[in-house]
Amino acid sequence: MSLSPSYDAVVVGAGMSGMAAAIRLAMFDKKVLLVEKHSIPGGLNSFYRRANRNLDVGLHALTNAVPKGTRAAPLTKLLKQLRIPYEALKLSPQTHSLIRFPKATMRFTNDFNDFDDQIKTHFPQSTQGWNELVEAIKSFNETNLENEYESAKDKVATFIQDEQLREMIFCPLMIYGSAWEHDMDWSQFVIMFKSIYLEGLGRPEGGVRTIIKLLTDKLQELGVELRYRCELQEVCTDQGNVKSVRLNDKRLGEILIETPLVFSSAGLPETLAKTQGQDSITARPGSMSFTETILFMHKTPNQLNQKATLIFHNNRDHYQYQKPEQLIDDQSAVICLPNNYHEGTSEFNEGVARVTFMANNEKWVSLSEEEYKREKEKVTAKAIALVSSYFNDSPEIIYHDTFTPKTVTRYTGHFAGAVYGSPDKSRDGTTATNGLIITGTDQGFLGIVGAMLSGISMANLHGLQGGRL
Ligand SMILES: Cc1cc2nc3c(=O)[nH]c(=O)nc-3n(C[C@H](O)[C@H](O)[C@H](O)COP(=O)(O)OP(=O)(O)OC[C@H]3O[C@@H](n4cnc5c(N)ncnc54)[C@H](O)[C@@H]3O)c2cc1C
Repeated sequence: MSLSPSYDAVVVGAGMSGMAAAIRLAMFDKKVLLVEKHSIPGGLNSFYRRANRNLDVGLHALTNAVPKGTRAAPLTKLLKQLRIPYEALKLSPQTHSLIRFPKATMRFTNDFNDFDDQIKTHFPQSTQGWNELVEAIKSFNETNLENEYESAKDKVATFIQDEQLREMIFCPLMIYGSAWEHDMDWSQFVIMFKSIYLEGLGRPEGGVRTIIKLLTDKLQELGVELRYRCELQEVCTDQGNVKSVRLNDKRLGEILIETPLVFSSAGLPETLAKTQGQDSITARPGSMSFTETILFMHKTPNQLNQKATLIFHNNRDHYQYQKPEQLIDDQSAVICLPNNYHEGTSEFNEGVARVTFMANNEKWVSLSEEEYKREKEKVTAKAIALVSSYFNDSPEIIYHDTFTPKTVTRYTGHFAGAVYGSPDKSRDGTTATNGLIITGTDQGFLGIVGAMLSGISMANLHGLQGGRL
């Protein structure tokens, strides 16, 4: 094993949080090594190319999509911290999103008044409770790192008695960010409520690639050393302090790097499993995973008479947010229609629809190769049938691909294909080992904007002693 020069910090994972953390550290002249086990950046928010088509993983919608110049908003703060101009995101707002339940359908846009009107029209008896809930959310400091877990379901029930309304409000917030089945942490609920309903949704032209390119360009400009196909094997410690990391670099073989500081976005249980002296790991792997089917169609959704950018579809009166007993839960899904963000631009020359189902990781990993292929085809067929039910004509499918929880683990290393990480978070980023800091999903800020904010604030707090955002 060779010994490499020492670094001020090693950042594990070139996903959204890892890249943001590395940028912040390098801006203040820290010598940073960013290691990524995969051969491309992005992590859960990445991309691939098949059959001459660009396919996106992650990014149905950028949350917190406030207009340029909005003061003290998470998106504007993060762009300022990373020194990225707002225009560079080329952000288009959503048209509208639908929350579709059997007995009611509500829509929301980036103007919160629209959602407010919908709630007051569909659930007039809940007006007062709804107003009070919104006030409670607006005045709550969800980013306080000392906040303890509190059940959001219990808290929201103190404001709103109508169960159907509660279920409809929770549906988009849970599927876009809850590591907990059936419920959410109140702080996480407030984060998601503000970022989706109050601040809004958008999509950068070019999708995930646009965001990733902005971050990798910045890393290059700052001279950050980024090594792909380089996997953290072990965080080595001495008397409870980080001393070095052992890496498996596909090019150089096994190497030992001296560093006092490791920022890991690999996940809390995943990181602790690789840390010396962590005999009993209490952080549990998450259980929420998903399949996603990407469909390319001969017509755009707009041509098929559907103008929504997102549809939160649920066939039950209750919203069953849990790991399904079967391979997928085909009674609920999110449908993303990216063309609709950019109607009239030249980004797409085909229609695209993305359909996400909740999925059971253990069931997917237990399948034989043949069964796996067959089941993926069945998921694709269900996704096509569901999307078609929202169009005025059956779309002709030109190309499709489906990824499963197994794919998530293969490309990101997350245990159990968990997209929202462990239900146990380290809100201040610290672990029992001095100098080992958790960033991203398992620090508790997730989604694309959340993960970047997490990387920035953990770098500021633990690497630059500059306090929080
Ligand atoms: C289908 C899907 C749709 C989504 N839609 C949206 C959306 O619409 N809006 C939104 O805001 N968010 C969305 N997300 C979530 C969002 O993509 C993630 O929350 C965010 O990207 C998480 O970033 P992260 O940095 O915390 O973690 P990750 O992206 O998981 O990054 C961790 C990185 O660490 C690397 N790594 C792991 N182990 C090691 C190791 N041992 N050594 C070296 N490297 C390692 C991984 O390869 C990975 O690149 C979606 C995710 C998925 C899967």
